[in-house]
Amino acid sequence: MEELLRRSEKLTTVGQLAAGVAHEIRNPLTTLRGFLQLQQQSGSLNQSHVKLMLSELDRINLIVGEFLILAKPQATKFVAKDVRNVLQDVLVFLDSEAHLHNIVFRQVFTEEDCSISCEENQLKQVFINLLKNAIEAMPGGGVVHISVQRKGGSVAISITDEGIGIPEDMISKIGDPFFTAKETGTGLGIMVSQRIINSHQGTMDIQSQVNIGTSVKVTLPALRDAVAG
Ligand code: ADP
Ligand code: MG
Repeated sequence: MEELLRRSEKLTTVGQLAAGVAHEIRNPLTTLRGFLQLQQQSGSLNQSHVKLMLSELDRINLIVGEFLILAKPQATKFVAKDVRNVLQDVLVFLDSEAHLHNIVFRQVFTEEDCSISCEENQLKQVFINLLKNAIEAMPGGGVVHISVQRKGGSVAISITDEGIGIPEDMISKIGDPFFTAKETGTGLGIMVSQRIINSHQGTMDIQSQVNIGTSVKVTLPALRDAVAG
């Protein structure tokens, strides 16, 4: 419980987030400006400069993209959906990426109805973020276990990998905007996912052991007596 409380307290205000975004975008913009200035003064841009400029632009695009997910106006359309179907769509979508990295998805879905009220694209984004982290945690490949269970009035989804795990001193920073341990990470995936799950009145809990793996559990309120697609 304390952990859950701590996580929701950590959800920063829009203002703090905006300052973070501005900061993160200003760095690549400064680099881009520097190169363009060089080109203007001496016309000396070469292929490696162009490559760097493209990767800086990609980074800006990635950061802006993650925030658009939160800002989309249609994002407030909640409909009845069965979590198993939403997750199944995501698994099919990520199948080739998983295959490419020698990752196997092993799923155990309950036979019981798992209908919830959700904004489908946002919920899909959460599962994509979590599954991508699982894939990225296993550079040599491995198994990702995905389970969906009914627990009383809730639907519990867990995504468990056999990856590198999260060191204890790092775990409290996971979910802070822009906190990443990856060279090309944005450090936005968990924060965005946490916000989406919060807006669905759900909770998210991360358990991890170094070199054993990480398990992320998402719990969402079930829709009683509903038949969802
Ligand atoms: P990013 O993936 O861009 O780094 P995230 O917010 O998705 O940003 O994750 C933040 C950090 O949390 C990651 O850089 C990684 O250190 C850690 N992390 C998240 N999920 C996992 C996982 N399944 N296994 C190991 N580390 C993880
Ligand atoms: Mg991520």
